[in-house]
Parts: sequence; structure tokens; C-alpha cells
Amino acid sequence: MLSGRAALITGGSRGLGRAIALAFAQAGARVAIGYAQNRPAAEETAALIQAAGGEAVIVQGDVAQPAEAERVVQETIAAFGRLDILVNNAGINRDNLALRISEPDWDLVLDTNLKGAFFCAKAALRQMLRQRSGRILNVSSVAGLVGNAGQANYAAAKAGLVGLTKALAREVGSRGITVNAIAPGFIETGMTTHLTEAQRQAALSQIPLGRFGRGEEVAALAVFLASDAASYLTGATIPVDGGLAM
Ligand code: NAP
Repeated sequence: MLSGRAALITGGSRGLGRAIALAFAQAGARVAIGYAQNRPAAEETAALIQAAGGEAVIVQGDVAQPAEAERVVQETIAAFGRLDILVNNAGINRDNLALRISEPDWDLVLDTNLKGAFFCAKAALRQMLRQRSGRILNVSSVAGLVGNAGQANYAAAKAGLVGLTKALAREVGSRGITVNAIAPGFIETGMTTHLTEAQRQAALSQIPLGRFGRGEEVAALAVFLASDAASYLTGATIPVDGGLAM
């Protein structure tokens, strides 16, 4: 479905990003794996792709810094000669009750999850506009759709991605570029391992499918949205959440 496409997945070293990178490679894409600090994890993702006969490079950069976001995109274009798909997946959380969220924790979450996505998209769009085609996927969250106590900073950033997705979709739709968002629910990754048993049970009681999701279940939607099969779909935010946010 993605044969020959050049893709950048920010935060591709671990978790959801790794699952998306593996699924893209399996669908035939050449994949750049973005990471911030965890080089061994990025190398492991690349090695898994290469062992299966795919093409992968790793690209370090802190997307919260606009100059680094720009460089990560440029290094991907230098490696593949083009950029067909950008997945803004890099993200962090610094959960706390609103009264305890410090300014640094507000800024860090907004800068990484929202500003990072915008500046990666801005750099990617320059190339995609020249190519007159492209796909941008923003990894939002159900927290951005329905909110979540203890995640004011994270939910604000993820809701911001929904608006960013729509604004960009309107701006570049006439140039053959689509922009969509995915809103995962609770997925088994490093981000959800810190949940206490009580938090896990409370979450499970809200999920009609009765379980957390797997990275591959999010990646399957990402492959579809990045493919020609999704050619008439833009500006959408699609939940992958076992029914949590309906
Ligand atoms: P994860 O396992 O903690 O992985 C986070 C990834 O983001 C890592 O690859 C990390 O790179 C990268 N990253 C973090 N800060 C970065 C920065 N400043 N610059 C560049 N890369 C950075 O998280 P995950 O669960 O896979 O989450 C991936 C995305 O899905 C996030 O946007 C998250 O908000 C969203 N999401 C997750 C869930 C869930 O249940 N897991 C639900 C809804 C939405 P390093 O390896 O170098 O640290």
C-alpha cells in the first residue's frame, strides 16, 4: 500500500511510533525513525525493519525545538530524496492535577506535542507542496477529544492537534496533500506502563471492548490514512480506542 513512499515517523524509536514504522516498512515504505534520546531503541527499530528486507534510517532531534524539527525533516529528505508521509507521533506527558502543573511542565508538554508537530509539518509541507502530494498524520489522543482529569496540559496539546489538523487540511487540500489525526485510547506502550492497577481498572471499565489496544491496531489505521485508499479523507480525527470516546 505504501510501496516506494518516503516516510518520517517522529518518536519512531519506541511504542506506537515503532509499531507505525514497522507497519509502514511492511507496506513498502522507506522509513526515517525520529527519536530524541534513546538511540539504542531507534537502532533496534531500524534493525527490525532491515532484517525484514526494508529500508530505514534513524534521525535524532528534539522536535520541541523548531530548528531541530526542521533539521529532522531535512535529514529525512536528504536520505530519501523526497518526503511523502510525515507522522507527528513524538509525544510526552507530565500528568498532574491542574493546581500542581508547573509552568515548565505545561511548556514541555505543549512544546513537544503541539509546537513540535507544527514545525515538523511546516518543514514537510515545503517539500510536499513542491511534490504536489503528501500525507500528514498527527497522533492526537482521546484525551484531546473528551478531556482527562490530571492531564490538562496533555489534553490541551492533543486538542490543539485536532484544530491544527483541520486548519492545515483546509490550507493544503487543493495541493494534493491530506492532513488527518488519529486519536488513540489506552494503548500498551511505555506511556501507559506507569498506570497504577486502580487507574488501569478504572480505564478498563470505560472501554467497551474491555481491553487496552496494541500498537499494531493503531498502526493499521496509520497505514490506511497514508495510502491512496484514503485519498478522499482529510481534516478528520479518527479514534482508535476500543469505543472509549464514543
Ligand atoms: P512512548 O512509548 O513514551 O514513546 C515516545 C516517543 O516519542 C519516543 O520515540 C521518544 O523518543 C519520542 N519523543 C519524546 N519526546 C521527544 C522530543 N522532544 N523530540 C523527539 N522525539 C521525542 O509513547 P507512546 O505511547 O508510543 O506515544 C506515542 C504517541 O501516541 C504520543 O504522541 C502519545 O501522546 C500518543 N498517544 C499514546 C497513547 C497510549 O496509550 N500509549 C494514547 C493516546 C495517544 P526517545 O525514544 O528518544 O525518548
